Amino acid sequence: MKERIKLSINHMGGSERKRVEKVFDSNWIVPLGPEVDEFERRLEGFLGAGKVVALSAGTAAIHLGLVMLGVSKGDEVICQSFTFSASANPIIYQGANPVFVDSEHQTWDISPELLEEAILDRMKATGRYPKAIIPVHLYGMPAKMEEILSIAEKYSIPVLEDSAEAMGSRYKGKMCGTLGRYGVLSFNGNKMITTSGGGALICPDEEAAKRAKFYATQARESLPYYYHKEIGFNYRLSNVSAAIGCGQMEVVDEHISRRRQIRRLYAQGLSGIEGIKVMDNPGEDFDSNFWLTTILIDPSTGKTPDEVRLALDAENIESRLLWRPMHMQPVFSDAPYYGRNVAEDLFSKGLCLPSGSSLSDNDIGRVVDCIRVIFKK
Ligand SMILES: *Cc1c(COP(=O)(O)O)cnc(C)c1O
Repeated sequence: MKERIKLSINHMGGSERKRVEKVFDSNWIVPLGPEVDEFERRLEGFLGAGKVVALSAGTAAIHLGLVMLGVSKGDEVICQSFTFSASANPIIYQGANPVFVDSEHQTWDISPELLEEAILDRMKATGRYPKAIIPVHLYGMPAKMEEILSIAEKYSIPVLEDSAEAMGSRYKGKMCGTLGRYGVLSFNGNKMITTSGGGALICPDEEAAKRAKFYATQARESLPYYYHKEIGFNYRLSNVSAAIGCGQMEVVDEHISRRRQIRRLYAQGLSGIEGIKVMDNPGEDFDSNFWLTTILIDPSTGKTPDEVRLALDAENIESRLLWRPMHMQPVFSDAPYYGRNVAEDLFSKGLCLPSGSSLSDNDIGRVVDCIRVIFKK
């Protein structure tokens, strides 16, 4: 059996182990510490805007972002339906109610048109506007942020950008995660860079970052005794994890260009197969990191994405169906949904191909060859 080709596996640059050893030597094996400070400065340099607060997970960052926006019990929050559940779960943590909105075909991200329809209809239904909007840059592809931000501004609703999959993606030249009021990154094992587990909240200014840090460290008032006026969380990143993150920042640019190159290799290798479309930037405003290369398989091929997934698996190649939209999840079946079947259609046709930056040209060639064989039958 040939070696397994994984979907998206962590890729160390080389200095991470040394940095972790340094942390051991200094005995800073605690939440927070000098590596966390350095990691935050490096992320800020990378993003070119905003103040970064390093956290224990991307999910924690979304939750803290909602806390910072004052989302509380009974509020409604609009969330892109086509996403991973971690975009929406924190809405429930706050006792608020998610309202799901469909995607549009170009980016696969939240449809500006349906977003406005949802905002107006929620006003009609509840007498209040939703408290926040969560667009998601799915698989790294920037959402139509100009349209989204202009609608958000029109109704004075802040945007919390789920950029967990889009580290290094740019929209009109600006880094994803820095476009909304708050932005979120994830450093989970399968994301663009990893700290083993971790995330970040990108804040608009120093004051907001200070406030976010306060909530992330148990909302402890600065008094000699433990004194609490608000509910806090234990959400900060550990100094050990941050050391891995600092090492990863040395290779992040290379890893992003490799993911983009992998998408190009797939596009070249799969060109000419009738009924397969490799996702690409829909225009020059969009510059995806192509965290995962995704394809759409037309039903006219007679193959479903799951059949292709199983055929690849038989060749020891891991692929994955697209995210199943949130409005199709039993746990969110009661939530309002505004849609035109776009996410459902994409879900029924799409597949994610192995895209990790450590994959060789030969690995990609093996995947391409397998797909060519599958579609010859
Ligand atoms: C991974 C991911 C998250 C959550 O990040 P974690 O670090 O795993 O908690 C949130 N949203 C999206 C779209 C993701 O892909």
